[in-house]
Amino acid sequence: MTTAAFSAAMRGKAQTVLGPVDPSLLGRTMMHEHLVIQMAHVAKAPREPAAQAEFYAPLTLETLGRIRFGGIANCDNCNLTDAATAASELRRYCSAGGRTIVDATSIGIGRDPMALTRIARATGLNIVMGCSYYVEENYPADEGVHAASEAELADRIVDEIVNGVSGTGVRPGLIGEVGCSWPITACEIKVLRASAAAQRATGAALMVHPGRHGEAPFEIAAILREAGADLERTVLCHIDRTIADRPALRRLAETGCIIEFDLFGSEGSYYAWTLPVDMPNDAARINLLQWLIAEGFGGQLVVSHDICFKDKLATYGGHGYAHILENVVPLMRRKGMADDAVAMMLVETPRRLLTFA
Ligand SMILES: [Zn+2]
Repeated sequence: MTTAAFSAAMRGKAQTVLGPVDPSLLGRTMMHEHLVIQMAHVAKAPREPAAQAEFYAPLTLETLGRIRFGGIANCDNCNLTDAATAASELRRYCSAGGRTIVDATSIGIGRDPMALTRIARATGLNIVMGCSYYVEENYPADEGVHAASEAELADRIVDEIVNGVSGTGVRPGLIGEVGCSWPITACEIKVLRASAAAQRATGAALMVHPGRHGEAPFEIAAILREAGADLERTVLCHIDRTIADRPALRRLAETGCIIEFDLFGSEGSYYAWTLPVDMPNDAARINLLQWLIAEGFGGQLVVSHDICFKDKLATYGGHGYAHILENVVPLMRRKGMADDAVAMMLVETPRRLLTFA
């Protein structure tokens, strides 16, 4: 299919791994999860023999506490590869009223289109798949991202959205999460610009993972604006681990971007990476969201859990994909957030973003 024919056919529809759907059917949506993902490359094996044994040992109840406080120093924790486990986890999300989930896994961290179709069939959920590339450190060698031009990369992203991921026929419904490091690399800027071009060509929403620095989201917004991206259809992820300062949050909202608080359920002080801000707990996240809503930015906010490690799954004693619907929404209400503000974050803004423009 040509890109023009695709755009004409898809305008006003959303694209799931099982095909186009009417956006009115999307309902409550988590904008940033990972159902199948491999993050083992981010876990570096320690040198000491005892720590190394723990690193390669399976995740058990006995090691769970240490893994949580040590972040990611366990290989098994970093591989979510079982579609059956994902499906059983998601049944609880369905029971809690969830209807749609975005698997934001991009190229480089184990995106698996066929597994997503199996999970969609097993659960009846609308599953939207991502595309484009995660951070430079994870570009697969056979993708040739360094050698490819910006235009070639844009063509590849567009081709996936229009014709499906190589041979599978499964089409992404969102561009991202596009990975950026801090400091951002030249190749990541090229991928960002290519992703912006693909957004313009297809009408899909764009989602970007910023480096861990308070200036990173602003730098990304400037690069994207210059590249002609539609910032009102661009989600900046992980803002809850990146910016806690209210004036800076307001400045970011004023760019028009969508601010994503996507680490709900992650409340630990012992995050694996050094962060520009302390990891907030859920109550602190809600306080900031309430402030942004009061400042008039309620239509630019989305929430999620960004589950990408086993210890976050209910199967392993974690909070699971249903945590926001089961626990956070009642806390939002108790803290005085209006029902229509909650619906805006969970239903209306995701629907606007996932509907092709
Ligand atoms: Zn993610």
